[in-house]
Amino acid sequence: MYAQIVIDINHSAVDRFFTYRVPDALPVQLGHHVFVPFGQGDRLKEGFVVALSESTDLDPSLLKDVAAIIEPYPVLLEEQLHLAKWMHTAYHCLLIDALACMIPAQLRGQRVREKKIITVSVADGVNVDEQLALLSRAPVQQTVLKIVRDAGEIPKNDVGKLLPGAASAISALLKKGILTEGDMAVFRKPAVPKIHTAPHALTDAQQKAVDTIYAAMDDPLHHTILLHGVTGSGKTEVYLHAIRACIERGRQAIVLVPEISLTPQTVGRFSDRFGERIAVLHSRLSVGERFDEWRRIRLGLADIVIGARSAVFAPVERLGLIIIDEEHESSYQSEKSPRYSAIDVAAQRIKETGGALVLGSATPQLLSYYRALSGRYTLCTLPERVAGRPLPEVEIVNMRDELLLGNNSIFSDRLVELLSTTLAKGQQAMLFINRRGYSTFVSCRSCGYVLKCDNCDISMTYHKVEGRTRCHYCGATKPLPKECPNCHKPFLKQFGIGTEQVEESLHKLFPTVKSLRMDTDTMRTKDAYGRILSAFAAGQAQVLIGTQMIAKGHDFPNVTLVGVVAADTTLNLPDYRSPERTFQLLTQVAGRAGRDENPGRVVLQTYAPQHPIIRFAKEQNYPAFFQYEIAERKKMLYPPFSLFLRVVFCDRREEQVADACIAYTKALEANLRAMLGEEGKNDILLLVAAEAPIARISGLVRYQLLIKLLRTKRLPAAIQTIYDFHSAHSDVCSEVNLEINPQDMY
Ligand code: ADP
Ligand code: ZN
Repeated sequence: MYAQIVIDINHSAVDRFFTYRVPDALPVQLGHHVFVPFGQGDRLKEGFVVALSESTDLDPSLLKDVAAIIEPYPVLLEEQLHLAKWMHTAYHCLLIDALACMIPAQLRGQRVREKKIITVSVADGVNVDEQLALLSRAPVQQTVLKIVRDAGEIPKNDVGKLLPGAASAISALLKKGILTEGDMAVFRKPAVPKIHTAPHALTDAQQKAVDTIYAAMDDPLHHTILLHGVTGSGKTEVYLHAIRACIERGRQAIVLVPEISLTPQTVGRFSDRFGERIAVLHSRLSVGERFDEWRRIRLGLADIVIGARSAVFAPVERLGLIIIDEEHESSYQSEKSPRYSAIDVAAQRIKETGGALVLGSATPQLLSYYRALSGRYTLCTLPERVAGRPLPEVEIVNMRDELLLGNNSIFSDRLVELLSTTLAKGQQAMLFINRRGYSTFVSCRSCGYVLKCDNCDISMTYHKVEGRTRCHYCGATKPLPKECPNCHKPFLKQFGIGTEQVEESLHKLFPTVKSLRMDTDTMRTKDAYGRILSAFAAGQAQVLIGTQMIAKGHDFPNVTLVGVVAADTTLNLPDYRSPERTFQLLTQVAGRAGRDENPGRVVLQTYAPQHPIIRFAKEQNYPAFFQYEIAERKKMLYPPFSLFLRVVFCDRREEQVADACIAYTKALEANLRAMLGEEGKNDILLLVAAEAPIARISGLVRYQLLIKLLRTKRLPAAIQTIYDFHSAHSDVCSEVNLEINPQDMY
């Protein structure tokens, strides 16, 4: 028998299969994690068995033997091996990097071991009744022996705590050889609270969605279902029913949620319904917990996996359903190699196993809705909130008018009025600041100088609490200068709105109101997020102030007012997705209001009240937004009508980067033109090399090449050409990264 092995070395020179002989005594299986002799001096290296065969074309006498099996069970499923090969091709990543997605990092290099505890049991050949009689004058030992006899094997610590003197009684019994010690592997389990929500009788729309998912699961083919449900329409209830049905069919489910929603609240709702059969995978687990949750899944002890992006790789053997909640979230796209999309990986897995992939959102990606309308996905719609609750009423306030009326504070009169009535009624409010592209900066009112980071081409943000300015890209801080470094006049002033400023203005207007603030500054510690949300849910504050983080799927029944302090700040960023992102954000944040009995209100403060995107957001009209925006994309030939690629060049030496970028671009263009030929000469819509929008980060100079390709039958070949060219030229300066459909264009 011969094994094909992928060696666990992160280098393109060994990015292939190596053939080894399997000794007869070694029960090697597909997916096993093994030691093999490799390279100089035949040092033992770790590797993964990705194929087995009876014969080989190579000379068997030249092959080396597999040295040992590391874990007793195969750590990779056959289906995962196929998936890794698919990723290798689709994302041009190293095989080992693809495989590494599927196992916990701790498994490689043996950094974490199974946790074992010491147990006691009755020693072989001991006649318990006889011993009990002999122990008549040692009642504690007698009791302990009875307990151990009845339990079989039991953790030593547990017995020791049962009654006074038990610990020394165990020692005595061990010494006499009546008991014997052993060990037992245990799983480190993350604490998961249970949050009870009664299963609801489904609405007609929910029932229709659930029926569609059942039918997909019963069909041997695979299906993708887009569940477009307005905020508060009961999508989660649909997921819970679908999962129940999946398990009843003897299959398993994976549920992906954005990292940010992996709060105890979300997980609690699932664990209340499904109990022990749930495993969670996210970045807040300890190393040991993560390893053990993965093992519980691999060993078939869990039927439902809930986790962030990487949980899409969970080793479930009877996969029948993958749910991706808030499918429009950019966190489903990996930003580092392999640059995979969790949605594409999920689709690939379900294609192999059969079953259903459910993508849920109130504001689907334009691409997903486009696919749904063109028939590639099945569209299910939940057009209304449950229990006849209305969508919140959204008002637009024109901030230019406020200014003309002499109000130059950050709150409009209308927002202040609604804040006071809401708070007077004992209800809660959320104030949202769209921070992206709107950082507060420090500038000189006399000469216009803007305080910038020394390492990055980014203006510094003033943080009042620290009394210092901070760079949001590299984290560097410096004090606020007393005078302008340029003209030396004392006129430096902070511009823009930050969460701190909103909080301060709120307290000036409402001195007794308690508020909580949530932004990247208050989120430094890992559990801060859950803590603030729990405090707000428990009513410990009446107002929650925050950035993007508070816009996501939270369910606070007592929130009846949402104020968007500046709605249009992301509209005009130099990125074709800005309108889509702005609409999504505004709709999501508006959707936090009025989720329970009391109706909700939303105030959108804007300087562009006539902008179509702002108007669609006011109406919370997704289909109208879609028709408008897809027409814009078509006009401009933006995705999904084309494919965007970007190559980013970074180096300390400015000239090096500029030259490298330009030379790379010229050579690539020649290659592409040659490959596409005469008939494909219009396939390249754009090819420009220039400084990146942020020309310097952490002291590295940045250039970029933008490529836009038309979607034709020649596209796959064009991508291949780009990949091949890139592999051969990725050393033209210190960092060269190729991104397909980059999530951020800075
Ligand atoms: P979404 O995920 O679409 O925003 P949720 O699933 O969180 O919505 O549901 C919103 C609220 O409505 C929750 O409190 C949920 O318990 C409740 N709910 C869901 N389905 C029903 C139903 N069929 N009848 C009554 N209440 C429901
Ligand atoms: Zn910086």
